[in-house]
Amino acid sequence: MSGIDLHTHSTASDGTESPAEVVTSARRAGLEVIALTDHDTAHGWDEAAAAAARHGVGLVRGMEISCSRHGRSIHLLGYLVDPDHPGLATEIGYAREARVSRLRRMVEKMAADGIPLTYEQVVAQVPPGATEGRPHIADALVANGAVANRDEAFVRWLGNDSPYYVRHYAPDPVDAVRLVVEAGGVAVHAHPFGRGRGAGAGDSLIEEMAAEGLGGLEVYHRDHDEAARRHGLEMAERLDLLVTGSSDYHGAGKENRLGENTTAPGVLAEIEARASGVVPVLR
Ligand code: AMP
Ligand code: FE
Ligand code: FE
Ligand code: ZN
Repeated sequence: MSGIDLHTHSTASDGTESPAEVVTSARRAGLEVIALTDHDTAHGWDEAAAAAARHGVGLVRGMEISCSRHGRSIHLLGYLVDPDHPGLATEIGYAREARVSRLRRMVEKMAADGIPLTYEQVVAQVPPGATEGRPHIADALVANGAVANRDEAFVRWLGNDSPYYVRHYAPDPVDAVRLVVEAGGVAVHAHPFGRGRGAGAGDSLIEEMAAEGLGGLEVYHRDHDEAARRHGLEMAERLDLLVTGSSDYHGAGKENRLGENTTAPGVLAEIEARASGVVPVLR
């Protein structure tokens, strides 16, 4: 397989492989270029860059920014952003901080309802420096033998519709698009038509994001069926957006396999051309 996979996660957030291991896995999968896009952080970038140089894998440094509006959760990929841009750094810093108390409240609600779980057990599942997320609660439940895997934990207790779900602060998606652009990067809406409540922005919000400088839509993603892909391609055409594809790899944390969806070389070239160059693609 050769290809470009523009959405992966490591132990810098909720993936199960270290940034270097993600690069090694990409090499093994025969990928030419990957993007490391951990949730709300650039924490894994340096380790991934060193591994990418060793293995001859191209690296797009990015992040997946959690956004919300009216209780809807929207994920925005920011590629080649300057992580030290003050506005962007402040926003993702707030979000990471808010995730900590939010995780504690979710665990308290679950424990109060008799689910065998302590906050200490969850903290033990969070790799040093990682952005905390629900998958770390899932990992504690797996370690406890309460569920077999992350997916079962989400289906039973951790979904957005669950009574234990607690929101955390996250920027508005239109503000986040503006920040990514100001930080010299390119913004792509991750899995815009994914399954379930809170899985995407909806067409009118995508139009608002496009007016603010959204660069593309991640059309080729396992959460999109044929109809969603067709709709995404139509919207991208109408709003003059790039079309990307990716695996959204989380190591052993999800079934998603590296390279299962990929991005055309010309689209990556366009992302590279639109970025400020402060954070280049490493090859
Ligand atoms: P959070 O960032 O805390 O809101 O948690 C959301 C994350 O949970 C997403 O980025 C996914 O990686 C993960 N996730 C959502 N649903 C599932 C699932 N069914 N199985 C495994 N991981 C999931
Ligand atoms: Fe994730
Ligand atoms: Fe996502
Ligand atoms: Zn993701």
